[in-house]
Amino acid sequence: MKALYHLLILSVLLIMSSFNQEKVKKQEKPTTNTISVSKSYLDRIEPPNWWVGFKENKLQLLVKKENIGQAIPTINYPGITISKVHKAKSPNYLFIDLVINESTKPGSFNLVFTFKNGDKKQHTYEVKSRKKSGKEYEGFQSSDAIYLITPDRFSNGDTTNDIVSRLKEKTIDRKNDYARHGGDVKGITKHLDYIKEMGFTAIWPTPVLTNDMHDNSYHGYAMTDLYNIDPRFGTLEEYIELSSKAKEKGIKLIMDQVANHCGSEHWWVKDLPFKDWLNYQKEFENKEPLITSNHRRTVNQDSYASDYDTKLMTDGWFVSTMPDLNQKNPFMAKYIIQNSIWWIETLDLGGIRHDTHPYPDKHFMASWAGSIMNEYPNFSIVCEEWSTNPLLVSYWQTGANNKDGYESNVKSTMDFPMQAKIVEAFNEEEAWNTGLVKVYEALANDFHYAKPNNIMIFPDNHDMSRIYTQLKGNKINTKMALSFILTLPRIPQIYYGTEIFMDDFAKPGDHGLIRTDFPGGWNGDSVNAFTGEGLNDEQKDMQSFLKTILNYRKDSKAIHEGKTLHFAPQDGKYLMFRIGTDETVVTIINKLSEKHSLDLSRFEEIGLKGKTLKNIVTGEKMVWGDTIEMEKPGSIILTTKL
Ligand code: CA
Repeated sequence: MKALYHLLILSVLLIMSSFNQEKVKKQEKPTTNTISVSKSYLDRIEPPNWWVGFKENKLQLLVKKENIGQAIPTINYPGITISKVHKAKSPNYLFIDLVINESTKPGSFNLVFTFKNGDKKQHTYEVKSRKKSGKEYEGFQSSDAIYLITPDRFSNGDTTNDIVSRLKEKTIDRKNDYARHGGDVKGITKHLDYIKEMGFTAIWPTPVLTNDMHDNSYHGYAMTDLYNIDPRFGTLEEYIELSSKAKEKGIKLIMDQVANHCGSEHWWVKDLPFKDWLNYQKEFENKEPLITSNHRRTVNQDSYASDYDTKLMTDGWFVSTMPDLNQKNPFMAKYIIQNSIWWIETLDLGGIRHDTHPYPDKHFMASWAGSIMNEYPNFSIVCEEWSTNPLLVSYWQTGANNKDGYESNVKSTMDFPMQAKIVEAFNEEEAWNTGLVKVYEALANDFHYAKPNNIMIFPDNHDMSRIYTQLKGNKINTKMALSFILTLPRIPQIYYGTEIFMDDFAKPGDHGLIRTDFPGGWNGDSVNAFTGEGLNDEQKDMQSFLKTILNYRKDSKAIHEGKTLHFAPQDGKYLMFRIGTDETVVTIINKLSEKHSLDLSRFEEIGLKGKTLKNIVTGEKMVWGDTIEMEKPGSIILTTKL
């Protein structure tokens, strides 16, 4: 018994010592940004700062410190008052509601915490002035072309941040598709000129916030801290620098955000503020088997959906390492909305891409997007609904005529339906109901969308096989697919590496392989796609082909917002016309391999007869007469602008 007692004391001491070590480790955490709270009395205060001059004058602070729940906070600053203080279930949190009057001057003030025994502690909080008004934040739109980047795999701009010993995953290994490879924010900044010269006007890096997970942390979707950039990706200053340098070059920064879940190693998981901070929290805390989502996303639209299916879909965890956030908890809801606004303001964002949009509570998502658009009326959010059903995709776009009255407040959705049809159209043999007719009919679905040219189209993305692989290694078809995508009434998004035919033939669809290192992003790479060194002729041709079209697209109002007219495919050819006030763009897709003449009489209603047009890729001019000689399969993009 005595031995057992000693053992108990020993283990308590051991636990205490490891707790102290943990505390010491925490204190040693170096300051990575100016907004760090490492010097504060508090463990956390989020948002770490705020601004004056928002339409919404309320702010809710999450404060974390051992036993802070016992303290009474006070503020003495003109224009800012505490309207309510909420205790949480955990004694280590307070949620403080502030009201910031319109006349409040920017500045710092002390948030004083008074304990029952008379002890006083304080934290200095800052409300800054805004750099510009909400209206001046311009989101991405159909005049933009977005370059999607997996930061870990694009370029290693700083090798000193490759391994950060205080984080759980401590290795980099470029030979392992699921390990970190060392790419970072600095690597993107370093190559902004390349991105600009290629003709892109926006970048969407997949998430770069802290993912302090044990493994597989490179992708960034298991966030463990929603206010800090992962030190392996860089510092907050570097993130801000990426945004400002990109802006100087006419490139908007889009941030990838996730409201549905966090990583299982998120700091709050160890001490959850409320009993319903997470969905299925009781099961999680009792170490019962986790309840994962049924992934039946149609419950959001299905008039016949059972409560059982709906609850499992929205409350179930995405995967067991990603706790499902409960946005029906009002404190969580405010936390997520303020977090998004904090990043828009801090990074001067040009858009948000919202991950797994159908999984969180859809009414919360509408209020989240509504709160953002209320502050930033010209901003853009694109939400991910991975469905090839246009009815489901259209449901999430603002202005949709939804039977249930649902209004998402989200400007853009993702055109997974068209993407799938593009792949079918180019892989299939031409016949009455196969081949190019697939894109012809897919485009007809636009009648259902509230605003087609606000929808994002893409040949592939970070979660699916590379387009070149999906099109079975056919370079001509890949170029044709891209020509079509870049002239559609849409916002195009291209994944890094598409310009050099990157593929995943070795393990088609394998996520780690899809996100292959961009050649030239690492010192010593034998091929350098940034300079062209070591690329083969076909890769160089593809790079220059995309560069020409993307740069042309930048100034073509006909492509951005022109009227669209197309003709049913015939004899392996499909023609789409984009008609603006000062320009008509013609996209000709020709799958026929033999030399032949294209009879133009079908297209008389466009009124091009006798006009001179220019091929935007080759620069060659031609007169629109009775026929066009088709020499070989491929796309021809013509413009009336000479
Ligand atoms: Ca690095």
